[in-house]
Amino acid sequence: MTDCLFCKIIAGEIPSTKVFENDKVYAFRDIAPQAPTHIVVVPRTHIACANDITPENSKAVSDIFEAIPAIAKEAGLEKSGYRIVNNCGADAGQTVMHLHFHILGGTTGGKMY
Ligand code: AMP
Ligand code: ZN
Repeated sequence: MTDCLFCKIIAGEIPSTKVFENDKVYAFRDIAPQAPTHIVVVPRTHIACANDITPENSKAVSDIFEAIPAIAKEAGLEKSGYRIVNNCGADAGQTVMHLHFHILGGTTGGKMY
């Protein structure tokens, strides 16, 4: 999608600090980190948000979760632990309408819910 920030990051049109990539998934450092380690993981295909996941495109979600162990290991989080967050829509504060999962690590406060 041409006016999507994360599609532009995936295409290299907007710079990012890459953490991981494969043919399905791209991961990069969040520009405004909310934790000592804050990584954004996105599917290369444009899906706006969790509302738009269907049987036809849901492999994008498993592709992300299959990549997360490698991303966590690369970031040094696999032993200490991390939180995976998805925001969907206005009340959740979603600001970029391209499905993404936040990996938040380095906090020691335990659960947030
Ligand atoms: P959300 O608020 O859940 O939609 O998450 C969007 C995230 O994208 C926020 O945490 C932003 O800080 C992050 N973000 C926005 N622009 C950039 C960028 N150019 N590079 C890296 N992260 C970004
Ligand atoms: Zn997009």
